[in-house]
Amino acid sequence: MHITNEYLASTFEAVQKRNSNEPEFLQAVFEVFHSLQPVAEKKPRLAKEGVFERLAEPERMISFRVPWVDDQGKVQVNRGYRVQFSSAIGPYKGGLRFHPSVNSSIVKFLGFEQIFKNSLTGLPMGGGKGGADFDPRGRSDGEVMRFCQSFMNEMYRHLGPNTDVPAGDIGVGGREIGYLYGQYKKLTGRFEGAITGKGLTYGGSQVRTQATGYGLCYFTEEMLRKMKGISMEGMTAVVSGSGNVALYAIEKAQEMGVRVIAASDSNGYIVDEKGIDFQLLRRLKEEERLRISAYADQVPGAQYFPGRDIWSIKCDLALPCATQNELRLEDAQKLVKNGVIAVAEGSNMSSTPETIEYLQQNGVLFAPSKAANAGGVAVSGLEMSQNASHAIWGFDKVDRQLAKIMVGIFHSALDASAQYGVEGDLVAGANIAGFAKVANAMLWQGIV
Ligand code: NDP
Repeated sequence: MHITNEYLASTFEAVQKRNSNEPEFLQAVFEVFHSLQPVAEKKPRLAKEGVFERLAEPERMISFRVPWVDDQGKVQVNRGYRVQFSSAIGPYKGGLRFHPSVNSSIVKFLGFEQIFKNSLTGLPMGGGKGGADFDPRGRSDGEVMRFCQSFMNEMYRHLGPNTDVPAGDIGVGGREIGYLYGQYKKLTGRFEGAITGKGLTYGGSQVRTQATGYGLCYFTEEMLRKMKGISMEGMTAVVSGSGNVALYAIEKAQEMGVRVIAASDSNGYIVDEKGIDFQLLRRLKEEERLRISAYADQVPGAQYFPGRDIWSIKCDLALPCATQNELRLEDAQKLVKNGVIAVAEGSNMSSTPETIEYLQQNGVLFAPSKAANAGGVAVSGLEMSQNASHAIWGFDKVDRQLAKIMVGIFHSALDASAQYGVEGDLVAGANIAGFAKVANAMLWQGIV
């Protein structure tokens, strides 16, 4: 894959020079610039006003020390980040990731993707992301709390319901959001919607926990119906990961008549040909915080395999829901050989560029993360609306809105792909549709 448009190629080269040690960020920018070539050709004003250059440089990148005391009384130091990428269409919005692999490249690729994803939802949210190289796994509740409080001691001054509104991501679930919000409130003295993913008793929204996984299934169903005239019902699926996104993708897929036969964590994967027992898996992961191997210990007939060969399992649907670049070319080759019908990304940038190209060339429907996993941030947007108006909406109302937003995102991406001569390429369609609104807002707001 090459960028042939001269202007975008030279702009990408400059981005490469400036961020040479940030491979994930460059991968994300390359994909978007590649998709935007027909747009740049049709609208020369975008180049003149530096829209591409401006979008590839964050408005602000904050990095800070997070000191905290572990259970042995030893002082630990981590590095925290927040990238405030674009506020063209609303306050910065995007999750926080706590994982040892977090660095400026990871945070910037996620923040950059978030700009277009948030735009696709149709809600007024800019793009941001953050996190720390802290690993909550194996830490006590007390250690996690002290870390979150220290993280917020710096972060709070950059947040606010109309400024920047973080949420969860890898390693940041209900427990971490609670501690972060408690400290935000203590420091500011304000009970306000400056974080989403909050618990239902203190300003959270119904369906936020389930939103990314549910939304992924709503998107996939619409894609299958409109592009192949078939439904998910009766299909088999493999889901990677067993965290927030994976769990609720499994629940919703099974509700929709899919048999989900495998799930994983970073050590290995389980196979349960009868279909995964969602309630058991949820309890083991969310409540008991165990490794996924515990599932095979408890379920007769289920098997545990160490390693990452989950994509060698034959399935109709592959739903990667763990982390970036988890679906590699060799995985895609196995999926295609086994007759996979669709791949829909629950994790951000699940697939390498070669994987996407191979799947598309082999007639596999491919749903890119910035469209297919936008359900989480969409319901975060609905949580912000509820907080701003002091309202509480019911589960069904939020779920219906989520489904409507996901169907809308699919059609925006499909329509944009048709309009720019790449019909059915949802990667290009999602990038173009997400970009259109942000670019328009930037043109109206002058050079800022
Ligand atoms: P969780 O922390 O709840 O779960 C992450 C899961 O992925 C765990 O099973 C974890 O295994 C596995 N995992 C994480 N890192 C790796 C790795 N390097 N290699 C292999 N497996 C790994 O995170 P979420 O479910 O919230 O997030 C999953 C993905 O979905 C991420 O890409 C995130 O950006 C994306 N996403 C999340 C949203 C949300 O609302 N939460 C919204 C949109 C996208 P282990 O426990 O062994 O680490």
